[in-house]
Amino acid sequence: MPMRRCTVCRVELRQERLIRLVSFDGKGITVDLRGKLPGRGAYACAQRRCLSGALKGAASRSLRQSVRATEPENRLKEVEEGLLRLVREGLSLSARRQGLTIGLKETLQDGSAGPVVAAKDCSERTRKMVDQSERDVYVLGTQEELGHWSGRGPTGVLGLSEGPAAHRLINNLARLCSLRASQVA
Ligand SMILES: [Zn+2]
Repeated sequence: MPMRRCTVCRVELRQERLIRLVSFDGKGITVDLRGKLPGRGAYACAQRRCLSGALKGAASRSLRQSVRATEPENRLKEVEEGLLRLVREGLSLSARRQGLTIGLKETLQDGSAGPVVAAKDCSERTRKMVDQSERDVYVLGTQEELGHWSGRGPTGVLGLSEGPAAHRLINNLARLCSLRASQVA
């Protein structure tokens, strides 16, 4: 998996865990969440400080053109919404392909080492059991929302299988939760 460097803090990470930025001459910066747009890209960590620095102009050097600085606050919100949309799509797709376990018991018995999504409002006991499972835990959405995204009734826990099908979803989850947890410096 290719490694790329954040244009702001210079840390090197797997490309798919960073946010790709592209620029089409004179049109400012486009955030390329799916990593598919053509042209030269610049990368920023999925952290508010790095992403806003890149949008404010730090990406110019990597893009080898001077880009119009953009007001980062609204853009950060757009990126967050875009990532949430991708996560929701990924969860629905996984549910349809039987790539999700739904509910605490099913998830803990699954034997997968893939990450777990726990609802913000799940019970303390559920949260504790999930934390003890030694799987990566991402806290996202309410029980109602998790149920809706997976096409079932409300649930506090979704378990993801490992493997290539879940790969993109897991990267989007990681980027979304990292961005939400980060602070603007
Ligand atoms: Zn960075």
